[in-house]
Amino acid sequence: MSEEKKDCGCKNKKEKPVQNKENIEKQAGKPGALSMMKSFAISMASRGLKNNKVPKPEKQLRVLSCFGNENTGGELPPCEYLRESTTEGKYYCGGCGCGDRKGTWLVADGDEYSKLDYPRLNCPLQMPGFTNYQPSTPDEAEEPVTRRYFIENISYDELQKVSVTTPETPPEIQKMLDKSNEKQKEE
Ligand code: SF4
Repeated sequence: MSEEKKDCGCKNKKEKPVQNKENIEKQAGKPGALSMMKSFAISMASRGLKNNKVPKPEKQLRVLSCFGNENTGGELPPCEYLRESTTEGKYYCGGCGCGDRKGTWLVADGDEYSKLDYPRLNCPLQMPGFTNYQPSTPDEAEEPVTRRYFIENISYDELQKVSVTTPETPPEIQKMLDKSNEKQKEE
């Protein structure tokens, strides 16, 4: 009897992607904690005074890179460096040395600013969606494929299932919209 195969949304995949020690080593260029902390300072500067946020598709890739998609029926496990915070329901990256505090939580509630919102943000594993992303090397396509290769080949539909809070309307645009709404009310 033939088993019905489920469409996982990933091209050319046979085995579940893994991120074991060997596969992490396949992903080149893991920078040390000190340089990651320096790069976090650059991230904070990129937020600017206007709370700039990364565009939605990039944030979706970041969320996939960190959390995987098992929660939406996919087969991508969470990143090996994902750590549960001592604060319930929060998570942080254990690979960059920034620790567990409000400013380093990867996702936040509602419209609150979170680490994955920074326009410029580096990932120790140079995963998709991050500023220092590096495309996978050919050996990452060998079974079991790396998480990075898996994400690079994920379908658009699967990516759309990743729910993220959308960027806030930039304050200057919001002011213009408010003004025009007020004008309309007066007329
Ligand atoms: S930032 Fe990179 S290393 Fe850290 S949890 Fe996310 S994907 Fe993993």
